[in-house]
Amino acid sequence: MSSELWKEALRYFPGGVNSPVRAAVKPYPFYVSQGKGAYIYTEDGNSLIDYVLGYGPLILGHANEYVKEKVIEQIEKGWLFGIPSRVEIELARKISFHMPSIEKIRFVNSGTEATMNAIRLARGYTKRDKILKFNGNYHGAHDYALVDAGSAASEFGVPNSEGIPQEVLKTVIVCEYNDLQCVEKKLKNEDIAAVIVEPVMGNMGVIPPEKGFLKGLREFTSTYNTLLIFDEVITGFRLSMGGAQEYFGVSADLTTLGKIIGGGFPIGAFGGKREIMDMLTPSGKVFNAGTFNANPISMTAGLATLEVMERENVIEKTTYVAEKVTEELERIKYPHVINRVKNMFQIFFGVEKVSNATEARRAKKEVYLKFQVNLMKNGVYFPPSQFESVFTSLAHYDDNVISDTVLAIKKSSELS
Ligand code: PMP
Repeated sequence: MSSELWKEALRYFPGGVNSPVRAAVKPYPFYVSQGKGAYIYTEDGNSLIDYVLGYGPLILGHANEYVKEKVIEQIEKGWLFGIPSRVEIELARKISFHMPSIEKIRFVNSGTEATMNAIRLARGYTKRDKILKFNGNYHGAHDYALVDAGSAASEFGVPNSEGIPQEVLKTVIVCEYNDLQCVEKKLKNEDIAAVIVEPVMGNMGVIPPEKGFLKGLREFTSTYNTLLIFDEVITGFRLSMGGAQEYFGVSADLTTLGKIIGGGFPIGAFGGKREIMDMLTPSGKVFNAGTFNANPISMTAGLATLEVMERENVIEKTTYVAEKVTEELERIKYPHVINRVKNMFQIFFGVEKVSNATEARRAKKEVYLKFQVNLMKNGVYFPPSQFESVFTSLAHYDDNVISDTVLAIKKSSELS
């Protein structure tokens, strides 16, 4: 039973969990025993249609058969060598093909490592110390990212973590998302190594870039010889096979990836222009290393996932599901706004517009949580936090899954 497991978990783990957002499920987290396709199954014997999908990686759904077969084949051959293997080249080739701004790449193990290393690389390349980020953008859980951070950092009221040295904080400059004037001013007045941005914000709910925002970032960073880092940990292989860069027609100097490219296994990557990437060890003097970097299991699962995506038009199918679900959400009587970009979306109650983190924080979180709990009672799992995205998967591209979701929304929308 989940209640018993939770009691014991509180003894062993701070706050009962190993990553904070998991404790946001009310009244206490359910424990998952299995996942298949669009469904997860709980220790209490319930099944839920899962719109969280591991917070984004599982774009094919749970335990996809093709990915499973490929991973099992790899496990038969061994799972860790600390020696290069063929599959890392195959995955790099595919990523670089779809995202041509990535001429060279380094595989690491999480989105956190990806942005941490991309920032270090940008500093090494430009010989400048400062970076500019946006309020509510989440780039993982390292020191340089935990300033005005979104996701669980905002959900739990710690957008600025304790424990980060003042010296670090001085090097992180923050602008409001979609505020180009702020960016121009900061770039003009300070020596900034890189601007790092989520090209679609997926960590304050979903917040799209306003028209011209990303192009403006591209122009200003070029003018001031600052690198532009697109954090595509969520958007990479989600908005299009070429990520947000292809979708919006703006190309970055460095790109960080994670989630989908590991097919549900631990992954991160950063890549970009050859001359910048060649500053990394061992060809250059900006250090990165990792026991599990490019481990064959994550490489294999990621490659298999991208193969299915190429074959099955996954982005359009997942977008269709998101359209159907948001159509039903629009019918909810309680005043709300829905932000959706392709196959990622979120609903905000009690506000008319959400175009930055400050506006997202004004939304009625308690109404969202009531809706989320209602949905769980009706067999659908939405993120337990206002500040996460709702995702769809290939496995949701199914009439029964869609109609059961629509019915659950209807039954859950008494919110006043
Ligand atoms: N960047 C973005 C845009 C993310 O959404 C996340 C995680 N949700 C990260 C970085 C950090 O990735 P990880 O949790 O794999 O460290």
